[in-house]
Amino acid sequence: MHGSAREARCGGYRRRSPERTLLYRLLLEHLEGFLAELAATPGRRDLPGFVKRELRRFLECGILAHGFVRVHCSECRRDSLVAFSCKARGFCPSCGARRMSATAAHLVDRVLPEAPFRQWVVTFPFPLRFLLAYDAELCGQVRLCFLKTVFAHLARRARRQGLDPAASGFRSGAINVIQRFGGALNLNIHFHALVLDGVYTSAHAFARPQFESLPPPSREDVEKVLSDFRRRLRSLFERRGMLEAAESTSDCDSVLAHVAASSIRGRIGTGP
Ligand SMILES: [Zn+2]
Ligand SMILES: [Zn+2]
Repeated sequence: MHGSAREARCGGYRRRSPERTLLYRLLLEHLEGFLAELAATPGRRDLPGFVKRELRRFLECGILAHGFVRVHCSECRRDSLVAFSCKARGFCPSCGARRMSATAAHLVDRVLPEAPFRQWVVTFPFPLRFLLAYDAELCGQVRLCFLKTVFAHLARRARRQGLDPAASGFRSGAINVIQRFGGALNLNIHFHALVLDGVYTSAHAFARPQFESLPPPSREDVEKVLSDFRRRLRSLFERRGMLEAAESTSDCDSVLAHVAASSIRGRIGTGP
C-alpha cells in the first residue's frame, strides 16, 4: 500500500507543538521574572506552591525534551514520538480540554439517561464568589443547597401537573459543574447544572422507575427557585456563622487572595 494512503487510513499523529502558542511563549519569557517580583514585594506572602507548580508544569507539558514515548503504528508502519503531558487540573489548556472531552464522553455514554435535560446556571454576588473560591466544603454545601431547591421545584411542578408520586415520591437527578472563570478569565465561581427536566417515580422498591417530562418552567417558576435558594443560602450562612463574611469582601494578605479579589472585581492585581 502507498505510504500516504496507509496514513490516511490510520489518521496519522501530529504533535500539537505547544511551544508555538502565544500562552506558552508568554509564560516561558515572563513566568520566573513575575514570580521573583511577587516574592520581593514587601508586606505580602508568596504565591502558594501549588500555583507555581501548575504554571511550571505547563511549560513542560507536551515538550519532547521533558520525556516522551515512542509509539509504532502497525497500519502505516511509522514511529511517532508522543510527549508526556502535565495532567494538571488548573491551568494547562491541553490537559483541561482532554479531561473535558473524556468526562463529556463518559457522561453521554455511561451516565445520563435518555431523557430531556435543562441547563441551570447560577451566579453569585462578589463577596460570595470570593468565599466560594476559597472554601471547597462551603462550595459543596452551596451546590447541594441549589440542587435541593431545583428538585423541590420539580416535585412541586409534578404535583401541579397532577402526577402521582407513587411509593418512591418524585425523584430527579443532576450533574453539576463548578466553573471558576467568567468570559474574561476573571475569577467568577458559578455553577452549570444539567438537571433532568422531569421526575422519576416508581410504584414500589423493585419496580422500574417511570420518567415523566414536565413542561418548561415559567418566569414565575424561575423567580420562585431563586427566592427559595436565597432563603436556603441565608440559613446555611447563618448556621455557619458566616453571614457577615458573605456580605463584605475580606482583607487579603496573601498574594493569591489579593489576586483573586482583584480578578473578581475586574481590577489589575499586580504590577505598576
Ligand atoms: Zn499510522
Ligand atoms: Zn498539560
